[in-house]
Amino acid sequence: AGIKGTSQERTFIAVKPDGVQRALVGDIIKRFEARGYKLVGLKLTVPSKSLAEKHYADLRTKPFFNGLVDYMTNGKAPVVAMVWEGKDVIRQGRRMLGATNPLEAAPGTIRADYCTSIGRNIIHGSDSFESALTEITLWFNENELADWTPSNAEWVT
Ligand code: ADP
Ligand code: MG
Repeated sequence: AGIKGTSQERTFIAVKPDGVQRALVGDIIKRFEARGYKLVGLKLTVPSKSLAEKHYADLRTKPFFNGLVDYMTNGKAPVVAMVWEGKDVIRQGRRMLGATNPLEAAPGTIRADYCTSIGRNIIHGSDSFESALTEITLWFNENELADWTPSNAEWVT
């Protein structure tokens, strides 16, 4: 699981523009912090069309692809791009997000608690080791990722 010089698992989480505009960033960060995960990358950005197309490359044949890219890139609000680190953070992050369609998302998950529409589901999370590595590399430069020791490290790692 080690990438970019760490033995800890890392995942890419992004608050999408609707989540930023709806002021849900703080709550989302709070959930990951409270769970015991470590924030190692964070930036506010309006992604280019090219970046969004690469990020969602596996969906390029879907009928909603162009709308999805526009939603992410039109600049109505930026994206908050993050890298979180810790035990099982890829799978656990997906569980914390809930199902892609908020209608199917379990109560208590981020999508169930804050949204209703699959096309405006406020947050992204990597779905595998491979996509985590690809997405972290796509969205962040190596020098944008911080190496630090949180005070809870002895308990939650
Ligand atoms: P996830 O974000 O849970 O990994 P997918 O990778 O399947 O889900 O899809 C990526 C994103 O594409 C979703 O989060 C959602 O924003 C959008 N999306 C997926 N399916 C639809 C759909 N049927 N209509 C509109 N947007 C969709
Ligand atoms: Mg996905």
